[in-house]
Amino acid sequence: MRPDLCLDFANTRYWRGQPAPTETLNAPADLAAWTRASRAPSSKEFEQAIALRETIYRLFDAQAQGKAAGQRDLDALNTALAQAPARKALKRNRGTYEWDVDARSGTALVLLAPVLWSAGDLLAGPRLDRVRRCANPECGWLFLDDSRAGKRRWCSMSACGNRAKARRHYHKSKDEDA
Ligand SMILES: [Zn+2]
Repeated sequence: MRPDLCLDFANTRYWRGQPAPTETLNAPADLAAWTRASRAPSSKEFEQAIALRETIYRLFDAQAQGKAAGQRDLDALNTALAQAPARKALKRNRGTYEWDVDARSGTALVLLAPVLWSAGDLLAGPRLDRVRRCANPECGWLFLDDSRAGKRRWCSMSACGNRAKARRHYHKSKDEDA
């Protein structure tokens, strides 16, 4: 399980600062594909999963901005963690290990169990202060800053950093002309 799986899940909705964010989970089948479940959850379970995604986004967004998380969001995550299947068995898969989750019930909490565990581990772990939100206010992408200096500001240079750089360059050359 990647430590930032919960951030990947939060980022399934992006360009959050724009009037019309990009939504990649539009239907239960999209969630099934993202979680590699064999069948789609009910629409009620899907709605619960999306609500949890927004809870997770708000928790880490607050952290990235140095703000305290909302108590309601923490409560919602705790409720989900308490109701999620227990983390009790590992299985080997292609040379690595993963937590064994019995996905047959197909509920939101079963599908999202690894996401919920990742959120809990990241919140309670040593890398919490490395959670960042892309410096482009229209973007809102959350990521874990793995750089040595810990000063990464952009989700990825190709998407947001380059655009900001081009803008700075443009302003700079205009100033030089003046
Ligand atoms: Zn970005």
